Amino acid sequence: MKIQTVGVVGAGVMGIGVAQNLAQTGHDVILVDIKAEILDKAQQEIKNNIRFQSLFQKTDKTINLEEVINRIEFSTDYKLLENADFVIENVTEKWDNKKQVYSLIDAICPADCVFAANTSAIPITRIASATKRADKVLGIHFMNPVPMKPMVEMIRGYHTSETTIEIAQKMLAQMGKEWVIVNDSPGFVSNRVLMLTINEAVFLLQDQVATAADIDKIFKGCFGHKMGPLETADLIGLDTILFSIEVLYENFNDSKYRPCPLLKKMVDAGLYGRKNGKGFYVYQ
Ligand code: NAD
Repeated sequence: MKIQTVGVVGAGVMGIGVAQNLAQTGHDVILVDIKAEILDKAQQEIKNNIRFQSLFQKTDKTINLEEVINRIEFSTDYKLLENADFVIENVTEKWDNKKQVYSLIDAICPADCVFAANTSAIPITRIASATKRADKVLGIHFMNPVPMKPMVEMIRGYHTSETTIEIAQKMLAQMGKEWVIVNDSPGFVSNRVLMLTINEAVFLLQDQVATAADIDKIFKGCFGHKMGPLETADLIGLDTILFSIEVLYENFNDSKYRPCPLLKKMVDAGLYGRKNGKGFYVYQ
């Protein structure tokens, strides 16, 4: 049987992409955030993304914008999640925020509903501890922009059951995604490496070893990467990068994860990257 109704909690960079991807693959989506203005902005961004995606699409299949939008219910009311078959959580990368969300959804969602945490670094075992269904909690680390990225990192928490893994695999197959399964560890595989790389690239900029453009150029020209570490940081969001590296620092108690002071300063100055138009680069 198809997993049909999916709750998406958090309508920021990732929640928007997850909701769009789900709606485009025929799911009924309940997108929840704390403020109506955030949801209005999310709706507008999904419309823009679909228009943009349609321009670059290689297949003949056109995306019906109205049909996709109509499949998403935008709401600040968590109670709507009482009908969810599956929930994908994408709220701010702060433990206190996530903890609050999980105890809320645990009380509202059906007992057999699986919770997938789309976190950059917070251990899945810790997230599961905020619920009474630790066996039904796993990590699905989506890549940004979600509708364009074919693969995810799936994380097995300490108590995650095989049935939960199977349900999540089914969910991802319905979304057209492939996956790699890893065991739980702060930052998992991808972000234990990526966050250190980005943080070190910010130190290079702070130490005036090279400009942001030249740091990125080395990764693109010499290593064949599609994007350099600072461009990637702007795409992810500098606030999310800082929160993630702080999670790694706190969990490993290892100074190699200390956040670069320049990264902290940029976040304090409100430079979040692409999402608000200014980071290491300026966006129109
Ligand atoms: P974001 O700051 O763009 O969005 C977070 C959203 O969560 C905001 O709209 C905020 O209002 C909402 N939120 C906060 N508390 C909430 C609550 N109690 N209930 C409902 N909504 C709430 O952040 P993002 O980049 O979308 O990241 C979301 C999660 O995805 C984070 O855990 C992040 O680490 C992870 N992630 C991010 C990326 C990326 O490239 N940005 C990639 C993979 C995973």
